[in-house]
Amino acid sequence: MSEIKPYWQNYIDGEWVDGGAGNLTVDDPATGEALAQQALASAQDVDRAVKAAKACHEAGALTEMRPVKRGRMVRAMGTYLLDHIDEIAYVLCREAGKPLWEARIEVEGAARYFEYYGNQCETIEGRSIPLGDSYYDFTVYEPFGVSAHVVPWNYPLEMTARSLSAALTAGNACVVKTPELDPLTNSFIASAAEYAGLPRGAVNIFCGLGREAGASLVSHPDVNQIVFTGSVATGVSIASAAAKNVVPCVLELGGKSAAIAWPDANLDNLVSNVRWGIFFNAGQVCSAMSRLIVHEDVHDEVVERVADMARSISAGPGVDRPEFGPNMGAMISDSQRNRAESMCQQAERQGGRAVVGGRRLNRPGFFLEPTVFDKVTPDMSIAQEEVFGPVLSVLKFGSDDEALRLANGTDYGLVSGIFTADVDRAMKTARRLRAGQVFVNEWYAGGVETPFGGYGKSGYGREKGREALWNYLQTKNIAIAIR
Ligand code: NAD
Repeated sequence: MSEIKPYWQNYIDGEWVDGGAGNLTVDDPATGEALAQQALASAQDVDRAVKAAKACHEAGALTEMRPVKRGRMVRAMGTYLLDHIDEIAYVLCREAGKPLWEARIEVEGAARYFEYYGNQCETIEGRSIPLGDSYYDFTVYEPFGVSAHVVPWNYPLEMTARSLSAALTAGNACVVKTPELDPLTNSFIASAAEYAGLPRGAVNIFCGLGREAGASLVSHPDVNQIVFTGSVATGVSIASAAAKNVVPCVLELGGKSAAIAWPDANLDNLVSNVRWGIFFNAGQVCSAMSRLIVHEDVHDEVVERVADMARSISAGPGVDRPEFGPNMGAMISDSQRNRAESMCQQAERQGGRAVVGGRRLNRPGFFLEPTVFDKVTPDMSIAQEEVFGPVLSVLKFGSDDEALRLANGTDYGLVSGIFTADVDRAMKTARRLRAGQVFVNEWYAGGVETPFGGYGKSGYGREKGREALWNYLQTKNIAIAIR
């Protein structure tokens, strides 16, 4: 496979349409060259999409359908993605800079969301509340109506799938704004909705600029619920827009997540988890292991072994990296790479030591070397701010209290990790960590089934698991007086 369609449209009200705001050039992060043109939605396009979703909802096209049927449609969207995995993974690899094998994992992950939530459709049930013999009372759960989704570029396909699958399962009509840097693969989700037979207006997907189409969407008076995944700054402006219209929103924001490693940890396992934790997707993962807090007794050995692992990782174009192995792709853009590189330079000025990496690769494309910083202290910017790149910061601890202070010592609280053979210590530490998810001896343990979301500035609300369905449902109580 080598050709990518030169022009990609938006999908609004069951039709493929051009963008009222013109086109956007999508670049290949592995070369820096133009890859394709994407239609760019205007505020009028956004309005049309929201009205189409509202009409779909008001007509009862999703809500009056028997849940088993809606669930099958949601599941069929996942089937479509798997049936087209080679094509989708190739486009994703080219537009997002990921190794081909990572792109395939993302397509499989996206399909899994549609399977998981499609299967839940028949489980959304109300309950009856006893009020004595003069009443019959019951509670039902209803969709909000129009659900708006604003998606980031780091997992464009999977992030859309994560919220869209749950929102549709709950019976909401959805409007999705895709990221400007890698919007192309989202059009396969629109094709999946067509394939699955979803009613017109149930799924609308378009690309547009955040400050224009994104801002119009989240402030639209006919949007009834919002889910946002992205940076803290944008999250604040979206939450403000939601507050003005008094609609609920879910915010999945950034992180500065830490793993704590004790001397009794299995160090082979630790190093392998650091590889996944910080170098998967070139570290552009909200729940990346961006800090490693290591006990002083094993600190030097761990730094040496982690640095060796980082040196073994070859960064280069994703298309040349079809198989799982010690390899990594490009960062998404020149500006993200430059920002990460300048954060490394600042870390060196503040006393950190780049044991390996810290610089761009001397080749076209947006590559940063796999990087490990030692001698990081909590007052340094690199210990507090999200790099969103392949940069690990190592901090040292003596006592358990100190490890917890360091781990909890940022504004964020997305995930955290514990590496030890001592179950008592793991349990005690897990209780005291300020994070929405705690991994013990395996970074990213869990799955679509386990709730995910942050404490502190990492956001509020939860995605994944049964828990996430409640983001997309509101409660209605019906009390009947019996005469
Ligand atoms: P971003 O906040 O710049 O953009 C995210 C999306 O918001 C894009 O689609 C963008 O167009 C849109 N947007 C920007 N301004 C807007 C506005 N005023 N109104 C409405 N929409 C607007 O984030 P990004 O750079 O694309 O993604 C990286 C960030 O996202 C990182 O901080 C990362 O940690 C976070 N992230 C979090 C999760 C999670 O699940 N917690 C997942 C992925 C990424």
